[in-house]
Amino acid sequence: TEPRIALLGLGAMGTAFARAWLAAGYPLTVWNRTPSRAEPLAAEGAEVAATAAEAAASARLVVTCLLDDASVGEALEGADLSGKDLVDVTTGTPAQARARAEWARERGARFLSGGIMAIPPMVGVPEAGGYVFYSGPAGVFEEHRAALEVPVGARHAGEDAGLASLQDAALLSAMNGMFAGAAHAFALVRHEDVSLREFAVLLSDWLASMAHAGVPAMAGHLESGDYTEGVVSNLAMQVEGNATLLRTAEEQGVSTELLTPYTDLMARRLADGHREEDGTGVIDLLAVPRR
Ligand code: NDP
Repeated sequence: TEPRIALLGLGAMGTAFARAWLAAGYPLTVWNRTPSRAEPLAAEGAEVAATAAEAAASARLVVTCLLDDASVGEALEGADLSGKDLVDVTTGTPAQARARAEWARERGARFLSGGIMAIPPMVGVPEAGGYVFYSGPAGVFEEHRAALEVPVGARHAGEDAGLASLQDAALLSAMNGMFAGAAHAFALVRHEDVSLREFAVLLSDWLASMAHAGVPAMAGHLESGDYTEGVVSNLAMQVEGNATLLRTAEEQGVSTELLTPYTDLMARRLADGHREEDGTGVIDLLAVPRR
């Protein structure tokens, strides 16, 4: 029989995780600040705890899926966590994850911090490819791996508790850039004689093929330190091309505000004398003092 899991937080994501564990036959204790959200799960076989502390007391593995890091501290305030394995899949920053790891250690718990790379409809659907990054002790991850792999895939992201949040934020930050690009592209074509449905297919295929070619090349450049290796689209040519993109936006009556943060950095790198590179050198320009 599977070990019991205590799950705190029954929002959209927590509820999806709960259903996946129940469907896989895991005994489950749930708690939610607003009790009514636990009712459907009680009907599906979950035990409902009256308090977060009572839920945590019911199982070795305690999973928190709350709004933000502050809500985790609030919910578990006063709960006895000694001997527990606390797995926090609530989104937060790397520094919050490291502080929460220390907080858990002081309370006698082992700790994994998670970063969820999935949306609720992907939970319990292995072919959707969702996963969670987990960082913290590899031994704790391995011990709970079978349970953690039930809702979505599970990847160990390193021993440093902050690494799951860091990689989560890195992937989401890149996604913002991608959607910024898609928003600009649609703004350019939306009022013209272009099928938006067909354009959407071309756009997503183009983004995927450029990502597959360009992203590994950036990693290679950063590793070797030679940003000119294998460059097929040199920066001087690209900056020239950017002028055409900006002019096209103006012709179409579209703001350039989503484009210029990146094109300005490319122009600065070129002005610094790096015409034989492609985009990697922009990364060097992004370093600022840490907070
Ligand atoms: P919801 O807004 O649906 O749910 C938030 C949950 O947090 C509710 O259970 C809420 O309780 C609880 N909560 C908020 N504040 C407190 C508090 N102070 N004390 C106790 N409980 C509190 O969010 P999701 O379920 O969608 O998200 C949960 C986590 O998963 C977040 O960190 C989110 O970033 C992450 N995530 C979500 C994704 C998504 O697409 N949904 C994708 C990837 C990550 P109550 O019901 O009482 O309000």
